[in-house]
Amino acid sequence: MNACSFENNIRRVEPYVPGEQPKERNIIKLNTNENPYPPSPKVKEALESFSYSDMRLYPDTSSEELVRALAARYHVKESQIFVGVGSDDVISMAFLTFFNSQKPILFPDITYSFYDVWAGVYRIPYECKALDENFRIKAEDYKCENGGIIFPNPNAPTGVYEDPEMIEDIIKANPNSVVIIDEAYIDFGGKSCISLVDKYDNLLIIQTFSKSRSLAGMRIGFAVGNEKLIKYMNDVKFSINSYTMNAVTQKCGTASVLDEEYFQDTVKRIINTREETKQKLLEIGFTFPDSMSNFIFAKHRSVSGDRIFSELRKRKIFVRHWDKPRIGDYLRITIGTPEEMDSLISALKDILSEGNIL
Ligand code: PMP
Repeated sequence: MNACSFENNIRRVEPYVPGEQPKERNIIKLNTNENPYPPSPKVKEALESFSYSDMRLYPDTSSEELVRALAARYHVKESQIFVGVGSDDVISMAFLTFFNSQKPILFPDITYSFYDVWAGVYRIPYECKALDENFRIKAEDYKCENGGIIFPNPNAPTGVYEDPEMIEDIIKANPNSVVIIDEAYIDFGGKSCISLVDKYDNLLIIQTFSKSRSLAGMRIGFAVGNEKLIKYMNDVKFSINSYTMNAVTQKCGTASVLDEEYFQDTVKRIINTREETKQKLLEIGFTFPDSMSNFIFAKHRSVSGDRIFSELRKRKIFVRHWDKPRIGDYLRITIGTPEEMDSLISALKDILSEGNIL
């Protein structure tokens, strides 16, 4: 390479690989933890009432209506909420804002595979702490010098939920670092740590509208923390792009938050289907850590993850599989409708009986 080449000045990164979004329609799509139900009908109304000619205007930079609705829903002040374009955008902003020391940030070895990518792009040193053999977080691992901490609760892709008491123990032990809890899947049965933000000024909770609110395509995420943290995040956001969330999205997001009944109902349906699916998977020889999310991370006692993944794919059922240490035999299966899960279970029975396993 030429010594003066522009190639020397490129910010080289190893990008995140998102789950596949197939163009084909007749696929049972259980690979990216989307919600199988549509968003609230109030979102449809909001969409239809949006004035097309208003698209010529820039959106509200502070997403005031949406922030107000979220503040009321989560019993915090408006100044304690930061909104962004999906929680990926919010987490990325949080990395940039808070993980700014020479010390390594800490996250589990098996976790959301975007964390090491953000650390890479922002040149943040990091250290992965191994989950125990049951995929549980060991609180002691997070009681050392660090530049920040992040993990999801429930964790992804395992679905394992940790009690707020254990999380509080980690927050308490790290007054000099910002601790971020990524609660993308908390609505499926867990208890949010939002209730702790007034007690700990180093705590930031991040949630998304992509799972429990069926709005993955609209891209809405938010963070809740003390006013100081939120102000720092807004300072960084307004130093990059003030108009992140478009006007239509702001309206749809607000309508979703205001329809609590629909939200509760949808979440309940998914939890019921999840519990039924757990039972059916156990009956055909799968094991999994108990999941409190909208997916199950399962492996079969005698057939490899790789094999089941490709056999399901042939039958037009997509799940997620990682060819990585410790989890190569697992499949992450998103909870779909009861009908979709029935198709999954019969496809699995078919695959297992072909291999003379059932
Ligand atoms: N955190 C976790 C743990 C996730 O699994 C996801 C979904 N890929 C996200 C954050 C990001 O979700 P979104 O950007 O759609 O809000």
